[in-house]
Amino acid sequence: MKQIIINTAKPKPIKSRLLMIYTGGTLGMVYDKKGKHLVPFDFEQIQAKIPELNRFDIEITVVSISPLIDSANVVPENWLELAQIIGKNYADYDGFVVLHGTDTMAYSASALSFLLEGLNKPVVFTGAQLPIGEARNDARINLITSLEIASAKINNLPTSVAAVPEVCIYFDYFLWRGNRSRKVESRHFDAFSSQNYPHLAEVGIDIQYNYNFIKPKQPNEVFKAHNKMDKNVGILKLFPGISLSLVETILFHKETKAIVLETYGSGTAPTDKKFLALLEKSIKNGLIILNISQCYGGMVMQGMYETSKHLEDIGVMSGKDMTTESAITKLMFLLGKKQTKTEIEKQLKQSICGEMTV
Ligand code: ASP
Repeated sequence: MKQIIINTAKPKPIKSRLLMIYTGGTLGMVYDKKGKHLVPFDFEQIQAKIPELNRFDIEITVVSISPLIDSANVVPENWLELAQIIGKNYADYDGFVVLHGTDTMAYSASALSFLLEGLNKPVVFTGAQLPIGEARNDARINLITSLEIASAKINNLPTSVAAVPEVCIYFDYFLWRGNRSRKVESRHFDAFSSQNYPHLAEVGIDIQYNYNFIKPKQPNEVFKAHNKMDKNVGILKLFPGISLSLVETILFHKETKAIVLETYGSGTAPTDKKFLALLEKSIKNGLIILNISQCYGGMVMQGMYETSKHLEDIGVMSGKDMTTESAITKLMFLLGKKQTKTEIEKQLKQSICGEMTV
């Protein structure tokens, strides 16, 4: 793995040490020598590209995964690799910045929030809609601000605790909780949002931290980077007219152990007897079904309508106000721990790291 250490603090004393992990995506792209195509940028030149870094009193170590990837190619193995990099370096750094493509950033941030148990340091994901190589871009400011957030301490004292000791996404002047975020925009700069949880910080001429909503440091928690996930999960997205044979194929797919059932509104689904019988039979077969709404805001309330009461009766679990990204990665994480169905269901009812309202 390529590693570069940039000490922007010289000759000042170092205020904090950060590890920046470059995974690929639009942010780190520049034009090739012929000026025609965007290619990943060699991070050895980062100080030359972003001279503003020299104004920080931090030491940044940059590592990049190999090969660099468009985040559409992200797989759970990449999450485990990121968790291991952070795990191995946890004691040596004050915070971590992950440069990542925007397309699956919400999945990766959610996955890391589960994998990094007892996290008490910032892990800030960021990316860009326009690459660093473009004259007008959001890459430079997203990167600089993420470094500032990852090194921020409460009361600005070097000895005090990190301002944001959790996995989050910084994008376009807002900091969001990672496992509450979704990519909502592919053209404008405000690519991320969180309908069910307030922003953790808003950036203007200064950074206003929303401490009431930031997970406080847990002094007694023991940090652990988990190293297993089970990807045998699926999504069944309902739509009016969905065929029973399609539902059956998904529910009875041989390897699938858990399904996110994407329902309507507050968690409603058809009351068609054959449809419900398929769900019930699959649950009796051992499948875990987690009800997540297609609606971005609000939460699943099974039993509020007749159209969701039956789901409750047959053993579909409520995913409350979790995002699909969070639900999928939580299931992969819990299945990876090889627990019994009862144990997994117990943890699905709880919030492990702020991913849902309980
Ligand atoms: N396709 C790119 C990616 O997710 C888009 C981006 O970086 O914003 O890697």
